[in-house]
Amino acid sequence: MGLQAIAERITAAEVQTGRAPGSVQLIAVSKLQPLDRVEAVLTAGHRLFGENYVQEAAGKWPALRDRFGAVKVHMIGPLQTNKAKAAFGLFDAIHTLDRPSLAEKLAKLAQQHGSCPALYVQVNTGAEPQKAGVLPDDADSFVETCRAMDLPIRGLMCIPPEDQPPAAHFAELAAIAERNGLSGLSMGMSADFEQAIAHGATHVRVGSAIFGARVV
Ligand SMILES: *Cc1c(COP(=O)(O)O)cnc(C)c1O
Repeated sequence: MGLQAIAERITAAEVQTGRAPGSVQLIAVSKLQPLDRVEAVLTAGHRLFGENYVQEAAGKWPALRDRFGAVKVHMIGPLQTNKAKAAFGLFDAIHTLDRPSLAEKLAKLAQQHGSCPALYVQVNTGAEPQKAGVLPDDADSFVETCRAMDLPIRGLMCIPPEDQPPAAHFAELAAIAERNGLSGLSMGMSADFEQAIAHGATHVRVGSAIFGARVV
């Protein structure tokens, strides 16, 4: 598939759904990918990546940033509170803020640093017990809690259930964002990013369709 093909499909989806060209950002999800594939995408000029694990990102991105210059890396995997400090130095955004204890930790770090990565609240739109994220019914109050801590909440993120059509989940996330005055919508992966764009995604997170199957 490759970077170029995905970029073209994003542009086509923007045009088809009346979105401004360039209004959707492509996060190239590089978790568990061999370094040569990541280097190839960097060499092609792409500068926005997503990672799931603090340790993997810490082992990869400082050196790549030295070589390729300003690269933005977003944390899209679950974040343990005891890794929040390390995450602060590594990531430009965190898409997985999902609980008060993590919000409190991030607020403390933000005070110490005088800055904070852009934050997205993860919403468990399918109410799946094994999945992270606040429940849809709790989203409004959690956003309010985070704002009361002066955290820079940019938007919402979701991962729809694998066994359901994603459109209703994208629509619900967009509705929650709208009523909370949030403009950022992190939704859509390799299999469904065009649908996510149709529902207002501002950030799509695409891994395997760019890099090929992950090596685990
Ligand atoms: C791995 C991952 C992706 C990318 O998945 P693909 O199916 O490879 O595009 C997107 N979002 C999250 C949260 C992920 O963990």
